[in-house]
Amino acid sequence: MEYNEFEIISKFFKNRQRKDKNQIKGIGDDSALIKVPKKNFLAISTDTLVEGKHFLKNITPKELAYKAVAVNLSDLAAMGAKPKWITLSITMPKSDSIWLKSFSISFFNILNKYGLNLIGGDTNSGPLSITLSIYGLIERKNALLRENAKNGDLIYITGNLGESAAGLSLLQKKTFLKNVKICNYLIKKHLKPIPRISEGIVLRNIANAAIDISDGLISDLGHILKSSKCGADINLNQIPISKVLIDNFKINQYLNWALNSGEDYELCFTISKKNVKKLNLAIKKKIIKCTCIGYVTPIENGFNLIKNQKKIIFKKTGFNHFI
Ligand code: ADP
Ligand code: MG
Repeated sequence: MEYNEFEIISKFFKNRQRKDKNQIKGIGDDSALIKVPKKNFLAISTDTLVEGKHFLKNITPKELAYKAVAVNLSDLAAMGAKPKWITLSITMPKSDSIWLKSFSISFFNILNKYGLNLIGGDTNSGPLSITLSIYGLIERKNALLRENAKNGDLIYITGNLGESAAGLSLLQKKTFLKNVKICNYLIKKHLKPIPRISEGIVLRNIANAAIDISDGLISDLGHILKSSKCGADINLNQIPISKVLIDNFKINQYLNWALNSGEDYELCFTISKKNVKKLNLAIKKKIIKCTCIGYVTPIENGFNLIKNQKKIIFKKTGFNHFI
């Protein structure tokens, strides 16, 4: 069955959630109206996902809805913000009700899981693409900026790196593995990244600077260093790599995935030495899982990768849409 734009909105997206107390108007007026609590910033982030570029053609609507929201949430996590509201602009070739039903169920599942309310959007026909704008709250003094890393800070990564890239490589049939269970595990890491929201909130009072790793560690840590006008020494032996990658791939392959491929959506953050105790306590309480990979240096030192106490040469090739 095919629906028009207004039927799509009312059947699949309107009145699916209870309004929250700061939401004066949601879907159904010319714009949504939101009350921002005192002493808070509204953290705003937008992501567009285009078929063939950000997701493969054969992705299911269920997978697409999850990933679009998760990727957007990851940006709020990197700011230390609490997710609150979201808008959805969807462009699709036809109004396929089976596709829309599956998309919207998965969409509201992840929204509800992270306390997000859908407050508006736009519906168009054309090649499949999704644009989400996400809104979160962060107390003004606590926002985690890229520019606040300080010389001497320790650099950490949540979780581990490279599994999403391995999953993508398997999906694209560039890599092969006999073990179906491991294949499915890695593909899931690519399709269902976990946004590190609770970790970002914990880090508000611990970290100086943070970023989410969407384009690869070297590229994304590079953004922190550039904004903070600092250098860094990163110890390759300390990069967190899962046993699954170590057991199934060659070292050059998984290190390259970990350093240069994106979509792990882990957080990379820096903390001053005086906060190590606080962080270790959070690690002990299992509120956050993270690994120290190096430290921030003066800008003259540059950005160095160190293996067995020796500097190694590397190519800086994070994902860039225009090359
Ligand atoms: P306008 O013509 O004023 O832009 P629309 O007809 O596009 O309004 O949208 C009507 C209402 O439905 C608005 O509140 C808009 O935010 C909302 N809306 C439109 N598309 C979507 C969508 N895909 N998801 C959620 N809300 C939507
Ligand atoms: Mg509109």
